[in-house]
Amino acid sequence: MNKNTDSPGVEEADAADRNILDALVAGALSARLPDEEAIRALTDWPEEAAAELSEAAERVREHYFGDAVSFCGIVNARSGACSENCAFCAQSAHHKAVSPRHEFLPLDEILRAAKALRDAGATRFSLVTSGKRLSNHDFDRLLETLRAVSALGLRADCSPGVLDRGRLRELKMAGCGAYHHNLETGRAFFPRICMTHAYEEDVQSVRDAVEEGLTVCSGGIFGLGESWADRVELALELRNLGVHSVPVNFLHPVPGTPLADRPVLSRGEALKIVALFRFLLPDRQIRICGGRHDVFGPEHRAEPFRSGASGIMVGDYLTLKGRDAAEDRDLARGLGLRPERGEDYSGGA
Ligand code: SF4
Repeated sequence: MNKNTDSPGVEEADAADRNILDALVAGALSARLPDEEAIRALTDWPEEAAAELSEAAERVREHYFGDAVSFCGIVNARSGACSENCAFCAQSAHHKAVSPRHEFLPLDEILRAAKALRDAGATRFSLVTSGKRLSNHDFDRLLETLRAVSALGLRADCSPGVLDRGRLRELKMAGCGAYHHNLETGRAFFPRICMTHAYEEDVQSVRDAVEEGLTVCSGGIFGLGESWADRVELALELRNLGVHSVPVNFLHPVPGTPLADRPVLSRGEALKIVALFRFLLPDRQIRICGGRHDVFGPEHRAEPFRSGASGIMVGDYLTLKGRDAAEDRDLARGLGLRPERGEDYSGGA
């Protein structure tokens, strides 16, 4: 890979790179898993040439999703005071970060937020709650709220922590659009990020949800100090679990958390991550979620739409303000993309 030189080898190197990308695209169009050498080519790809990777990842996205882009929004339905100690999270009671704390929000407040996002183009709306598990009382509130959000014409998703089989079945009966539960990072790196529960608990909840026939959204957060091997490990775990949608979050370092001093990922590294996930999970929704504005900034705000990602989270984040969702909708339309209808959940899933 020889990008920044005038040496006679450049043309041959570029042709070789094109061959690598063409082979990766051809494999992805048949949903074939790249072999180890091809995965290494992706992870070793020079950041300064990330645009070429994005262009190849876009060919795969277009094959499975055409001109549809999925817009989802969230509400922090129950915030803060979390028993877990995820090192990136402002909501953990173990850290000193300043972040909103409240019990389960009243129904009318949640529905106001849902309507505003729907009117700005979102087709999916997720209720996110802090904590590892919900109390019976809050779980009943969740079911009631899911039904009310569905009645607005939105796909009503939720992120309620770890659930047992019985609760997963109740979610399904309540018309839940997707159960969301992130694995956050690769199995080997997870103990460096969270010590209050085992990785396998999260994996089991995701596995149970898939087996119960729910649509499952599970991904991770990047920029925690994890290696490319950790990223590949996460992508392969999600592929093996058969999840339908993969949120890709980039760390927004929050003062008061153990990761407060970590740098924000570069655009090139972020684009490489999105492309890696597109090639390893070619027909799944890959959604760029938290940290998008930190990484891409206002001057590169169109890049996430041309990175191989098939969805974008719009509106506010869990503990941070986002951008006006209608701006993202208009930006996507200007790029020739159309907001996905709620029922087109994913290309191959
Ligand atoms: S990521 Fe979730 S489980 Fe971890 S501390 Fe934050 S709210 Fe709690």
